[in-house]
Amino acid sequence: MSSPHTSNPIDPRNPPARTHMGTSPQNPWDVLIIGGGPAGLMASISAQETGAHTILVEKGLRLGRKLAISGGGRCNVTNAKPLPEFMENVLGNPRFTFSALHRFSNQDVQSFFEVLGIQLKEEDRGRVFPVSDKAATVVHALVDYAQSSGVTFLLETPVTEILSRKSQVCGVQTRDGPIWARTVVVATGGCSVPQTGSSGDAYPWARQLGHRVVEPYPTEVPITSDTRWITEKLLQGISLRDVTIQVRQDKKKVLTTERGDLLFTHFGLSGPVALRCSHYISTALRKDASHSLWAIIDTLPNTSVSELEAWLLAEKFTSSRRYLSTLLTQRLPERLVDVVLEQAQCNGHQPILQISDRIISTVCQACKQLQVHIVGTLPLAKATVTGGGIATQDINPRTMESKRCEGLFFAGEVMDIHAHTGGYNITLAFSTGHLAGQQAALMALATPVPENNCRDTGSDTQFRGLST
Ligand SMILES: Cc1cc2nc3c(=O)[nH]c(=O)nc-3n(C[C@H](O)[C@H](O)[C@H](O)COP(=O)(O)OP(=O)(O)OC[C@H]3O[C@@H](n4cnc5c(N)ncnc54)[C@H](O)[C@@H]3O)c2cc1C
Repeated sequence: MSSPHTSNPIDPRNPPARTHMGTSPQNPWDVLIIGGGPAGLMASISAQETGAHTILVEKGLRLGRKLAISGGGRCNVTNAKPLPEFMENVLGNPRFTFSALHRFSNQDVQSFFEVLGIQLKEEDRGRVFPVSDKAATVVHALVDYAQSSGVTFLLETPVTEILSRKSQVCGVQTRDGPIWARTVVVATGGCSVPQTGSSGDAYPWARQLGHRVVEPYPTEVPITSDTRWITEKLLQGISLRDVTIQVRQDKKKVLTTERGDLLFTHFGLSGPVALRCSHYISTALRKDASHSLWAIIDTLPNTSVSELEAWLLAEKFTSSRRYLSTLLTQRLPERLVDVVLEQAQCNGHQPILQISDRIISTVCQACKQLQVHIVGTLPLAKATVTGGGIATQDINPRTMESKRCEGLFFAGEVMDIHAHTGGYNITLAFSTGHLAGQQAALMALATPVPENNCRDTGSDTQFRGLST
């Protein structure tokens, strides 16, 4: 199955499944993958297609649960932006992801699905979805293809430990006993939305094997605020299309400027633009929790302050008896107008003629710089993406292999990589999964069946790892 558009055509083969495989150290699987999200599924496909006997072990009953709820349940498979622009949206260790993305890029992801017969469409900001608008289309295509390629699935089987000896991986422990493998790919995801199965199980295993783990933190997550009109829910439920938010530290230093749709909630700010700001907020507060952070919202980014002033000053002559508040509702929702007027300390519920030009100017400034004091973000469990994870310094970016344990590979969000929402994280999962699966397979196929290594001694003291 090759495509003229993909630099890494997936070439299906269907090796016969071997019985009793993995039941003893002398008869290991070539590649064992932990986790059936996009990273694990893609790793299983590329490992199997490289010629390795591959098993994917998933703790849940269903595969791709987080993938199925991404992009509002329509599955945002990738983002079509050119790679340099794509990379600007990778926030966590972009350089580390470079090699994987070059070898299996966002274009390759699209070609992969098109070759599988899944029609895709590009929406705003380069986001790519299946034409069906159904996540199930994508998940089924991946799973069916992996299965037809010969990947073996073991569902409802939580891995509890990675088995290794002398810094060489030799399998995993499950509640039903060990499964032996020459190489293991950890694709267990982060720990946000844990009901999808990704609950941070791999961090203690990785620590035990000598990896550093960057403490997980929430990212792509709504922002919390203690500003009075937020806590009093005055704007709850109001959404604004295409606004700009500048995140400032101590009201001066600009941490980021992001644009997109915004939703005011009972706790703070949500919607795509708020999620885009959250990485910078989490990062600043992790460095120093005492920082005073502000979201400065430009509610009318397509109109300059002077254009707004010119409009209202003209209205002063043509509609002199109309209230300033009524005029502003031509541009902003009524409840938001009240908040803008409050920030400008202006009583707008009076004829505009009675309001000084100076105060009108202050009101225009408030429309362009509505100030929201930021307290933090919602917790990790509510975050779309996990920041932090297995330190990339302990992983070879060209192969995804651990630098601490031979034959152990990582893929996807379990690593300290993350990006904005919009298909970028899913692409990172596919790219790193593709690379990890292929490299694990190549290593396994080049390695003779273990002789003395990883013999089952009947005692787990021989094996390094930690139960979860
Ligand atoms: C609501 C929501 C919307 C999102 N929208 C977008 C979006 O629009 N664009 C975007 O790019 N990203 C989005 N994401 C993020 C994206 O879904 C993830 O980055 C991506 O799924 C990560 O893939 P993964 O394979 O690394 O991990 P996961 O998809 O989390 O998969 C990990 C798998 O490992 C399994 N597992 C965990 N522990 C064990 C164990 N001990 N034993 C066996 N199996 C185990 C889990 O059950 C799970 O199936 C969204 C996430 C959420 C929650």
